Amino acid sequence: GTQAGLIAGRLGIPTISTGNLLRAAMRDGTEVGQKVKGYMDAGKLVPDELMIDLVQERLGQGDCQNGYVLDGFPRTLPQAKALSSFATIDAALSIEVSDEEIEQRMEGRRICTVCQTTYHVDDNPPKVEGVCDKCGGKLAIRKDDTHEVVENRLHIYHEETEPVKEYYRQEGLLLAVRGQKKLADTTSLVFEALGISL
Ligand code: AMP
Repeated sequence: GTQAGLIAGRLGIPTISTGNLLRAAMRDGTEVGQKVKGYMDAGKLVPDELMIDLVQERLGQGDCQNGYVLDGFPRTLPQAKALSSFATIDAALSIEVSDEEIEQRMEGRRICTVCQTTYHVDDNPPKVEGVCDKCGGKLAIRKDDTHEVVENRLHIYHEETEPVKEYYRQEGLLLAVRGQKKLADTTSLVFEALGISL
């Protein structure tokens, strides 16, 4: 999510984060929000059909006409195949991090309850503890960043999302970089892989 935001900022295009769209829908109490709450709180994937409709609708909006960075989508092979039917993808970026490190990162993650910018208590702390640098909103721990739910999400990742990498490798679109300890070091590798200057 953090790297997606940096790429999008550099290219002047929006980030479409499905997790953020779903959390906003839950917060607003929409029909979609009510449907997805149980899945999200348990760290399970929301059904493909709902996700595909949501993304297709979002990509049709005006701000996506010059491009976008997708964050958190596609997460299954049916989602990847559906995306290919209504969008042209230039690259799929995989940031490779071990499961142990993912657990550490999720447990230290904080998210702004207003604008959803993410921080990490050690690696990417806000200037003032508990307060968003961008909008002054209160930071919170995501409900699905608890130890048990993260384990579940990792399991689902290996089962359902990892095959998506192979799909993009076969399409010749996969770019993989190793996630670094320092955020800025990962950003350098990501920008280099995408062929954009910092
Ligand atoms: P994220 O913020 O990307 O970690 O997403 C948080 C949660 O939203 C996931 O654990 C899923 O429950 C749901 N979600 C987000 N994106 C998708 C997707 N592409 N397919 C299915 N569920 C999703």
